Amino acid sequence: MISKYEQKRNKSMLLKAAFEENEFPKMVAKSDNYITEFLDQNVAYIFISKEVKNYYSFIKVVDSIVASPRRDYQIDLASFVTNFLTLEEVLRAFVLREAFHTAKLYSAKEKQKEDKKGSISLYLDSSDYLELNNELATIACAINKTRNLQVTPPNIATSEFIAKAIEEDFAKVKGLKVTVFDRKQIKEKNMNLLLAVNSGSSYEPRVVTVEYKGNPKSKEKYVYVGKGITFDTGGYNTKGYYMDGMKFDMSGSAIVAYAVKAIAELKLKVNVSAVMMLTDNAIDTHGTVPESVVKSMSGKSVEITDTDAEGRLVLADGLYYGASDLKASLLVDVATLTGSILTALGKTYSGIYSTCDKEWEKFKDAAKIAHEKVWRMPLHEDFHKPNKLSKVADLNNYSTTEKADSNTAAMFLKEFTKDVPYIHCDVAGTADNKGMGFGILVSTLVEFAKKQN
Ligand SMILES: [Zn+2]
Repeated sequence: MISKYEQKRNKSMLLKAAFEENEFPKMVAKSDNYITEFLDQNVAYIFISKEVKNYYSFIKVVDSIVASPRRDYQIDLASFVTNFLTLEEVLRAFVLREAFHTAKLYSAKEKQKEDKKGSISLYLDSSDYLELNNELATIACAINKTRNLQVTPPNIATSEFIAKAIEEDFAKVKGLKVTVFDRKQIKEKNMNLLLAVNSGSSYEPRVVTVEYKGNPKSKEKYVYVGKGITFDTGGYNTKGYYMDGMKFDMSGSAIVAYAVKAIAELKLKVNVSAVMMLTDNAIDTHGTVPESVVKSMSGKSVEITDTDAEGRLVLADGLYYGASDLKASLLVDVATLTGSILTALGKTYSGIYSTCDKEWEKFKDAAKIAHEKVWRMPLHEDFHKPNKLSKVADLNNYSTTEKADSNTAAMFLKEFTKDVPYIHCDVAGTADNKGMGFGILVSTLVEFAKKQN
């Protein structure tokens, strides 16, 4: 559920902020995030300590309110504005976090959690932020749809299932054109790297293209490409026993698709497409064996030295398709690509690579508005050396000599962009945690699209 924005007081209790450094009624308990209620006045105060200094620590305060409210509260938005929080940020925090906690996501549990909690509504004595509220609600909805696809188990959310689900879910959105390639069409396009990854699968691969033309007069066109490995066993270079969370390897594809859906629903005057590269990476007798050489859509040959470095294979064809067929003026990909980005940035930052400083600045600003943590990583020719060790092909997709695999993977992908300005987002650390998907970067990609000239 998305919280309501109201310009009038309703009957529920008004919840106000009591920042430690500000004035508030003496009776308010000075315990972190504790809510003191004054029943006679139908008003409550939440105590917020001095330790809360920025948006990210404020999120925890908001979570404590919206995750499980003990009664219906109407939030006095203006009371939460302080020297480090604008009204826009207060509204963003409440709308997005409330949606996060009340999302109806896939669950096969016999007993669903009962919703006995109170509800949240938002109060502001002005219509100035109504439009922003509606925009945030659209983005929150896209994030939750992404999260739902992320958590849906891999035996259900196969490539064929996801393509169909997107077609159905996007059918009613004005201005969106969805095209689905099946195996035959993928073959005709020479997306042979995608086919190589799919060769051990019981399911057909799918390439889903979602196109939105909000500014037909402009030649500018962003193409967002997403890695859509619905389950990654590693292939013949199997991950063995450790396959925890490998259903989340399709996160990038869901993220780019729902970002474009939100962009269309917001009717932004920009041109943005999403490309989902969907297959699982499975093992059977037809599976690609290591040292196989495959000709990519671009014509470059790749020795598949490691079948577990499959993300860069499907993205290579996806990026080339974006640059050539879709005529992107800018390419962005989102992928749970490498374990080594976790070594660099943990589960805190998404690692971003950009061939272009100007576009990075825009992306960074977009992430700042969305309050998502991004960190720029370097592209350098040194990182490309391990990609060029094959004796029999133009490139190899992995080398045990490499020490900075996230960077090396980025350099590998850059080879398939036809020199179109390019941003690569490695979200292997930030897309999911402990069985939960976060729809990371959906919000940033919407903000980024707004910066298209
Ligand atoms: Zn893999």
